[in-house]
Amino acid sequence: MSEHAVVIAGGGPTGMMLAGELALAGVDVAVVERRERHALEGSRARGLHARTIEVLDQRGIADRFLAKGQPAQVATFAGTRLDMSDFPSRHPYGLALPQNAFEEILAGWVAELGVPILRGRDVTGLAQDEAGVDVEVSGGAPLRAAYLVGCDGGRSLIRKAAGIELREAVTAVWGTDFPGWEPSVSSLIAEAEARDEIPVGIVRDARGQHGLGRLEDGRIGVVVSGRTPGRPASRP
Ligand SMILES: Cc1cc2nc3c(=O)[nH]c(=O)nc-3n(C[C@H](O)[C@H](O)[C@H](O)COP(=O)(O)OP(=O)(O)OC[C@H]3O[C@@H](n4cnc5c(N)ncnc54)[C@H](O)[C@@H]3O)c2cc1C
Repeated sequence: MSEHAVVIAGGGPTGMMLAGELALAGVDVAVVERRERHALEGSRARGLHARTIEVLDQRGIADRFLAKGQPAQVATFAGTRLDMSDFPSRHPYGLALPQNAFEEILAGWVAELGVPILRGRDVTGLAQDEAGVDVEVSGGAPLRAAYLVGCDGGRSLIRKAAGIELREAVTAVWGTDFPGWEPSVSSLIAEAEARDEIPVGIVRDARGQHGLGRLEDGRIGVVVSGRTPGRPASRP
């Protein structure tokens, strides 16, 4: 049985960032990732905010991201663009860089740090004892770790296996009972090919905010908003 101080389930942005941080701190860490390759099917998140770039700079890797992305003033409040270029920061801007591109950069960094990534493998279960945790992995022997970290996304198997309800997890992090309202607006997003020239831009109407934009590969990114059925148009 292979042993590590920490096993991370999931090699998305959260898992890779944590793996890099632990490796820099000299911790023996391994990642188990379901995907065979790091490619994502869609582009997902569209960029990084200033604080993220600052943190990447503290780790000495901001330049890798800046070389692949496009700096831009992306901070907004209620639809109004805010210019933060005079903020006291080395990086007073956001960076347009799709998630599939920044995941690739993170994967390269983690590989350089020598973190083993078991690709094409699923964490399928876990058994805790006083000293650590046995981690069941598809298609191979279990791993043993002092700590198992669930970075396996919003439907985390690790979270569920540990008996943690999402609501409880949020309450533990924020120290509050997660007050708020049910959502009143939902959005659909798509990445599409268009035969004809499409007018890009943002449109706001009574149903919400909609957008069309050209992606790096020439396709069209689409966001369409609408009211969630049965919900009020605005929050009380
Ligand atoms: C279509 C789409 C569009 C998005 N657009 C935006 C956006 O515009 N802006 C924004 O900020 N965010 C956006 N997001 C959200 C953003 O992608 C997530 O916040 C981000 O990916 C979360 O990173 P993560 O590492 O926590 O989880 P994930 O990216 O979900 O990574 C989890 C990883 O764990 C792996 N995994 C899951 N289960 C197991 C298992 N049992 N064993 C092993 N591996 C496992 C998965 O393969 C995956 O690689 C979007 C998400 C989607 C789906």
